Amino acid sequence: MSQLFIDGKWESAEDGQTRAVINPFDGSELAQVAEAAEADSRRAIEAARRAFDHGTWPRTPAAERGALLDRVADLLLRDKETLAHSETLDTGKTLGESRADVDDVIRVFRYYAALADKNPGRIVDTGSPTALSRIVYEPVGVCGLITPWNYPLLQASWKLAPALAAGNTMVIKPSELTPLTTIALVGLLAEAGVPEGVVNLVLGAGPVAGAPLADSPLVDLVSFTGGLVTGRQIMIAAAGNVKKVALELGGKNPNIVFADADLETAVDQALNAVFLHGGQVCSAGARLLVQDTVYDGFVDAVAERADRIRLGSGLVEGTESGPLISAAHREKIEGYVASALEEGARLLAGGRRPADPELADGFFYRPTVFADCRRSMRVVREETFGPILTAECFHTEREAVELGNDTDYGLAGAVWTSDGDRAQRVAAALRHGTVWINDYHPYLPQAEWGGFKQSGIGRELGPAGLDEYREAKHVYQNTDPRPLGLFAG
Ligand code: NAD
Repeated sequence: MSQLFIDGKWESAEDGQTRAVINPFDGSELAQVAEAAEADSRRAIEAARRAFDHGTWPRTPAAERGALLDRVADLLLRDKETLAHSETLDTGKTLGESRADVDDVIRVFRYYAALADKNPGRIVDTGSPTALSRIVYEPVGVCGLITPWNYPLLQASWKLAPALAAGNTMVIKPSELTPLTTIALVGLLAEAGVPEGVVNLVLGAGPVAGAPLADSPLVDLVSFTGGLVTGRQIMIAAAGNVKKVALELGGKNPNIVFADADLETAVDQALNAVFLHGGQVCSAGARLLVQDTVYDGFVDAVAERADRIRLGSGLVEGTESGPLISAAHREKIEGYVASALEEGARLLAGGRRPADPELADGFFYRPTVFADCRRSMRVVREETFGPILTAECFHTEREAVELGNDTDYGLAGAVWTSDGDRAQRVAAALRHGTVWINDYHPYLPQAEWGGFKQSGIGRELGPAGLDEYREAKHVYQNTDPRPLGLFAG
């Protein structure tokens, strides 16, 4: 048992603890992995600190760092099928989704490989021939990277690729529920030639293995993707040494459909918006807002198709959606369904576990659609992170925007309309980090991703995703220094 990767060596946890990784499709054990104690994480941080303070990586030319990221992308391509298979076993998502994830991960590494040396700094115009001024970018230092279970490989790549491109050293801790592909990815980084101590991996429970990444004074930056409550804890812990904090948290994302939209496409995409990966997506379009004149027909059509979604093993051709991540998460979803019913929502589809005996051992739940929802309902206000769609009705454009913004979150949203002016007006008015017009879910490595309001702090992807991991340093040189005489004595 040796899946911790510390200072270039695979190691067991110091106290020999391990944890079972569970296949959510049938509850079987996929693997035993090392379970780090706090001391393991502190050792990993110290290794990253040494590699930053005394190693070559922060001082390696950016173009060379970029070339290494390209090699990682080549290795990911080589291992694509194995990685996708492993991701499906670990998360329950379909093999098609996992393959798309690996393709995206490759694009992310290629993007930051190319960006690594593109913006080394700039000359500042001082207006004086004797004052030379320039901005140079330097790595932030030691980074703690903490990722969730829904997109293990993808979320890891959004952090590792830019952090490496910028010349940092790091410790990554994946979710204890889905560590397998991150272990594999760290192996590929080592194979590609990342020097010892630059990337370290710890596995285990958040409050034990993860907490040191937020509270250690040896860490300069913590980048966290996960839930809002944990995000707040990370921020508080990080305050100890005022480390830089990047947070990618949850969402309660409005999917707004106007009567003049291509309704057939909008129905189809409403399913994609919310039921992809069983709704366990931070940007899931779980809050459907439909204009009153088409509301009933639209919501009925969505519910009718939701009822036909084929649940099953992600490895089996034809499966459209897999299980939820754990028994505990399914219970949480069931709690939201019960609360929606109590608060008067009208159940149109799902609201139960599947009857299929073949799925009985897995953590399955039927895609669920509620009509007649109101914004005061708990199921409408909170991120359920599961296969629950709530539908609300609006009359005017103004009301649609008001509803869409009436959330503590601000991650993503979509608007469906054939009126180009209205699309732009609504996109401008929505207080969310991403707005899709007549589409749902596409994102690009070259376009920033992140949240307004309580969906987070900072941005991943795009040029800003690299800047998160760089410090701007101003170097000012006086080529003709003279006494100022300000202090006469
Ligand atoms: P989580 O907050 O429970 O856990 C996330 C990670 O934090 C895990 O690795 C966990 O072990 C670790 N952790 C937990 N407590 C910790 C602590 N005290 N100190 C340090 N680390 C700790 O979230 P989750 O259930 O794994 O993921 C689901 C959440 O992630 C959802 O809210 C979802 O919206 C969000 N998410 C956001 C984005 C985005 O881009 N904004 C992307 C994916 C997921």
